[in-house]
Amino acid sequence: MFDLFDELSELFYVSDRDSYELIFMNKASRERFGVQATAGLKCHKVIYGKDAPCEFCSAPHLTRAAFYTWECPGCVDGRHYLVKDKLMDWQGKEVHVCLAFDMTEAEERRKYLKNALDAETLVMDCVKLLHTTQNLPYVLDKILEKIGRFLEAQRAYLFEIQGDLMSNTHEWCAPGVAPQMENLQNLPVPVDGQLKDVSAVKCLLIDNVDKTRDSHPQEYKTFREQGIQRLVAVPLELDGRLLGYIGVDNPPAEKIENISSLLGTLGYFLSSSLRRQDDKRLLDTLNFYDPLTGAMNRNAFIRDVEAFMVLPESVGVLCIDINGMKDINDERGHPYGDQVLVKTAETLTSLFGPGALYRTGGDEFVVICRSIGEADLEERVRALRGLLTETVECHASIGCQWAQECSGLQRILFEADEIMYADKKQYYHGRAGSRYRHGNDDILGLTKPGALEQMLLDGRFLVYFQPKVSVYTGKRIGAEALIRFQIPGDTVMAPNQFIPILEQAHLISLIDFYVFEQVCANLARWRGSGLPVMPVSVNFSRYSLTEKQFEARLLDIWRKYGIPQELLEIEVTESVEADDSYNFLRIIRQIRDAGFSVSIDDFGVKHANLSLFTSMDFDVLKIDRSLTSDLPRNPKARAIMQSVADICRKMGIRIVAEGVETEEQLAILKDIDCGGAQGYLFSRPLPVDEFEQKYLRRNDYN
Ligand code: C2E
Ligand code: CA
Ligand code: CA
Repeated sequence: MFDLFDELSELFYVSDRDSYELIFMNKASRERFGVQATAGLKCHKVIYGKDAPCEFCSAPHLTRAAFYTWECPGCVDGRHYLVKDKLMDWQGKEVHVCLAFDMTEAEERRKYLKNALDAETLVMDCVKLLHTTQNLPYVLDKILEKIGRFLEAQRAYLFEIQGDLMSNTHEWCAPGVAPQMENLQNLPVPVDGQLKDVSAVKCLLIDNVDKTRDSHPQEYKTFREQGIQRLVAVPLELDGRLLGYIGVDNPPAEKIENISSLLGTLGYFLSSSLRRQDDKRLLDTLNFYDPLTGAMNRNAFIRDVEAFMVLPESVGVLCIDINGMKDINDERGHPYGDQVLVKTAETLTSLFGPGALYRTGGDEFVVICRSIGEADLEERVRALRGLLTETVECHASIGCQWAQECSGLQRILFEADEIMYADKKQYYHGRAGSRYRHGNDDILGLTKPGALEQMLLDGRFLVYFQPKVSVYTGKRIGAEALIRFQIPGDTVMAPNQFIPILEQAHLISLIDFYVFEQVCANLARWRGSGLPVMPVSVNFSRYSLTEKQFEARLLDIWRKYGIPQELLEIEVTESVEADDSYNFLRIIRQIRDAGFSVSIDDFGVKHANLSLFTSMDFDVLKIDRSLTSDLPRNPKARAIMQSVADICRKMGIRIVAEGVETEEQLAILKDIDCGGAQGYLFSRPLPVDEFEQKYLRRNDYN
């Protein structure tokens, strides 16, 4: 009955279920296992060479109903089989029927493809790291580690060339492998041999160093001394110049098959990052100097104030602000105005030295003098007043403060600044029509020590609320809190004008926690007076998230007001910055573990980053206005939105489209089934009273 199976090239056999005696083997099996006749032979002996039934025997799993399928990697002749077994009746007995397919080639192909794919992923990961980092040395270490581990190498390292010498600047060593970096400093750049020619190829593979003994004896010796048997070298070049190379020692041969073009690509990206690093160093220098006056600029000021916060020496601080700079520019022209600034800077430098002067604003200078006596400082300030009127022919307001020991530079600066402003007020006193500080000054003023805290206390910052509504019913489902800054003259300033400056000055968390507290207070008040409440989201800058004690501060504020946590949502902007993504994910998890919802803001600003959905858990996705406004005109935007809405629905993530301005956009959102919307079509952000009146007290919304 089974003779038909002789025509099969797969292995096929039948054995007695209880005694394991072979009843039939097809031709392919007989040939494979060298069997003439099966009588008296047992399957485990013939096929697996075992005296007893195999420990992995499929017999316990077998049924008559269906085939049992399993894989047997390397158990016969080192080949990979896919096996299908079942029970059958045969001549009144229950027998075990087995069919085995040889999958060895397919399996090898799968492994090969997996390796190729892994290599590609590795290169992409590295490129991503390179392009998002602010910290190249750290990323270089990470990349070497990734390459080293992936290639199962002993060492992966970077040589950088400076002039005629090269040095090993970064290395990764496998566990137990001794570091060599220290011994590989300031070596002559090879002038002959394979490494010299490395730049001619994208990637040099030496699969057996012994073979190069005769052709490159010198190099051979060096390699052997370092215990190198196999080597991969990737040149780093830019504009035909060799910058260095990446080396990988002793990876197993199968790991480096077909790897060279990918490593070559990585080499290209590494080269441009190294070049960018050089450019950045140059830029940094430019970044800290004011090209007009040669004084240090505001960036340097912020940097140094932080560094000099506490000094074990006396310090003198001067704040200088030229009066009437705008009038000088208007009446005598900008070139003259520039001259005034240059001369002021020269005068200040002549008195206080070049390392002490900062130009912190258009017409503002600060001097920080270390280790200066009080009398000495006063003497120089007196000289300054004289010189300024004599040589610069303009009036400047000056505030000066001195401390025997610098225990808080911010405070000393603040006091000097106050004195300067008092001086300035006096100067302007009675001058009709003169502007005394304008909006811009107000913003810059916020970064002065203690100023922001004071403005918050004075109620100069207002929290506005913008409703979020259901696209189906138009009824409110929540609100977003948005900060505003009130400047004199009843002007209300939008956050984009001051948030970047506050972020730069590391002050933004004061705003974020202030808004959070105001939101808690309002929610508590609304609940107390029996008004319907709804979840309110608060924006938190990335800078705030990474602040120490972030979670504790959040919980401290929340506890004061006793409102349900479901009513509070934290909005954060996802960013692909790889450097701190680990921290970011950790903080998001903490916020959610603490019971608050997390909403991801500005989705789709640059690109729709779908990896978001797999990398973290969150509650709400906010679609950026740019994507919303594209919906009517751009079918691709619509397709993306549709998929994103589908994903969100499946994952239980709520979705809110921002910046909805037209009925047409709303209709599409309904169509796509994007549950929530926010935008001018429904309402602009409103001051709290107005919001309360319109959305909490009116019945048609309840
Ligand atoms: P965001 O979080 O994306 O907030 C939405 C912005 O879109 C708000 O601008 C809002 O007024 C505006 N908007 C809403 N609907 C429409 C519309 O239909 N059309 C248009 N053209 N715009 C609309 P806003 O209030 O000026 O805030 C700007 C950004 O400032 C916010 O963008 C947010 O990133 C930031 N921000 C606001 N408040 C805070 C805060 O308390 N802390 C932090 N860290 N950032 C805040
Ligand atoms: Ca937001
Ligand atoms: Ca947004």
